[in-house]
Amino acid sequence: MDESDQEWKIKLSPEQYRILRQCGTEPPFSGKYVHHKEDGTYVCAGCGTELFASDTKFESRSGWPSFWDKISKENIEMVEDRSHGMVRTEVKCAKCGGHLGHVFKDGPRPTGLRYCINSAALDFVKKD
Ligand code: FE
Repeated sequence: MDESDQEWKIKLSPEQYRILRQCGTEPPFSGKYVHHKEDGTYVCAGCGTELFASDTKFESRSGWPSFWDKISKENIEMVEDRSHGMVRTEVKCAKCGGHLGHVFKDGPRPTGLRYCINSAALDFVKKD
């Protein structure tokens, strides 16, 4: 089920809308989860789908929250992105189609991946 563009505009903040629905990017080191270290689950800010676990978060020094794995392949969609003169792999929420960020192959073991995700695309659910 998809929500209309107008509904997204009402539901999301302008920054969340720009990133999730218009493939935007927040400036590095600006997002609220860059240095966030609590135990819990990062979910899609658009629809609440579980995306990344805190125990896969690492300090990449990129300025964006970075994870070396996703919670479930069912919840994440990868799309080739040839914008801005680069070939990158876009990471999207599989449930609502929201743009989350990109994934790169320079991450730590065991996956070697670095999911580079905008804070504004995420909400955090603290583990209790
Ligand atoms: Fe979503």
